[in-house]
Amino acid sequence: MHDRYDVAIVGYGPVGQTLAILLGQRGWKVGVFEKQPAAYPLPRAVHFDHEVARIVQAAGLGEQLPRLTESADTYEWRNAAGETLLVIGSKETSLSGWPEANMFAQPELERALDARVRALPSVEVYRAAEVVDIRPAPAEVALVVASPGGHRREIAARWVVGCDGANSFVRRHLGSTVTDLGFFFDWLIVDVVPRERRAWTPINWQLCDPARPTTVVSGGPGRRRWEFMRLPGESVADLDSEATAWRLLAPWGMTPDSASLERHALYTFQARWVDRWRKGRLLIAGDAAHQMPPFAGQGMCAGLRDAANLAWKLDLVLEGLAPDALLDTYESERVPQVRQVIEFSIELGKVICVADPAAAAARDAAMIAAAKDRGPTPPVPGPAIGPGLLVDDDPLAGHLFLQGEVRQGDSSGRFDDVVGRGFTLLSPVADPASRLAPELAGFFASLGGISAQVAPGGPVDDLHGGYARWFAANGVGVVLQRPDFHVFGTAPTIDGTAALVGRLRRALESRA
Ligand SMILES: Cc1cc2nc3c(=O)[nH]c(=O)nc-3n(C[C@H](O)[C@H](O)[C@H](O)COP(=O)(O)OP(=O)(O)OC[C@H]3O[C@@H](n4cnc5c(N)ncnc54)[C@H](O)[C@@H]3O)c2cc1C
Repeated sequence: MHDRYDVAIVGYGPVGQTLAILLGQRGWKVGVFEKQPAAYPLPRAVHFDHEVARIVQAAGLGEQLPRLTESADTYEWRNAAGETLLVIGSKETSLSGWPEANMFAQPELERALDARVRALPSVEVYRAAEVVDIRPAPAEVALVVASPGGHRREIAARWVVGCDGANSFVRRHLGSTVTDLGFFFDWLIVDVVPRERRAWTPINWQLCDPARPTTVVSGGPGRRRWEFMRLPGESVADLDSEATAWRLLAPWGMTPDSASLERHALYTFQARWVDRWRKGRLLIAGDAAHQMPPFAGQGMCAGLRDAANLAWKLDLVLEGLAPDALLDTYESERVPQVRQVIEFSIELGKVICVADPAAAAARDAAMIAAAKDRGPTPPVPGPAIGPGLLVDDDPLAGHLFLQGEVRQGDSSGRFDDVVGRGFTLLSPVADPASRLAPELAGFFASLGGISAQVAPGGPVDDLHGGYARWFAANGVGVVLQRPDFHVFGTAPTIDGTAALVGRLRRALESRA
């Protein structure tokens, strides 16, 4: 075991894995310590959104996504009588260049992420390695790692990120308060592999029956998931058994003859987040920092967004291109967004978790009236990130920027694969770098920035005109995208490029 790391990651769930890849790809020496000897084998998350698909693409798994996922076009909500309350229609294409709703099995994604981690020479993964003590110091942090035989050793890292889940050990060392919205419901989660492969219509749906609120969704290719709410008066023991799982599945045509039960587990969903995500050289990400009800399918998504936000900031700080204080923007940007996603998940839960027949009837009447004469509703777009390293008076800043299909030379495909990723200047008019004086161009190059003219028929050929539409719709002549795909800022004409890059430099310097 090496003794010193640039970054030590505690916990090797999907968030720790993704962060390890994003840092390892930049060549940083990363040590990952996971207390379990083997990966958690059972399904948890089944959905991720288009932004997360783009993050997974950035982690090198883009080509594997079609194998690992099936896209979902419909999420339909029905009442006990089978009447439609709401249809959420998701598209095959999206802002980020991936389907809006991707269904998957978490253990399979984790296996693919693990294989990618293992291919990175600067990343070391230690399993059966529990972090049992943390001793922060000004220049680096000492971690004590225990193995099952009682052997202990100390390692040191410049930065430590706790991706160690809901019962995070690292979190305790931050001494932060937690905001808990106090929204608890117990659900029995049942994952099955039907013996017969067939198309399920709708692929995802919600039965809003007060007699048993039930969710029926894809669990990724070849799998289905049922989620049954625990009713008032029903005990945890009543619900959490294999016999109950089969009894509840029977009306859905799932029996031991037609399907195998992959697992059943009862979860109590929480709605809370940690208020401080950084203390000195310690940071937290993923479930260690926030937990939410799964009704919007966003828990792991939020964790991967944490990893994407943190990775490039750690990269700049480790490289000496930005002061440590840049890491404070991780918290200021992520917490407000996570808070909104948790609140949105609760709003969905309040509609779904209704066991009172009179309240359900009132809900149904209101939703049926609202749904009348309305086609499928698009998924609610994710909220912008909070204040941080952004042009604060630009309404587009902090929102996601798009990834379209492009051609450059002989290569065509998604922008990030064809042109690259990192700080990116784009204009439909000319290459924005041509508007930077040598000194500012040098600063931008030191960040690894890339710059291109993207337009139909242009040097970067905007194959489906998505960039042209975005620039026109927003009245933008140049955009500066951050490495995590969010807009840093824009200007109405390409002549605003130097001011934009100047603001980035000042924003980084002002934190020194
Ligand atoms: C039923 C269910 C359905 C869900 N559905 C969705 C969904 O559809 N979409 C979605 O986005 N999310 C969903 N989620 C949430 C998602 O599964 C989690 O948000 C995600 O797994 C969190 O990943 P993580 O890496 O932060 O933590 P984890 O996966 O929990 O990993 C943390 C790791 O840290 C390790 N660890 C802990 N302490 C130490 C220590 N001291 N030393 C070393 N290692 C340590 C643990 O062993 C663990 O392996 C769902 C969750 C559940 C339970």
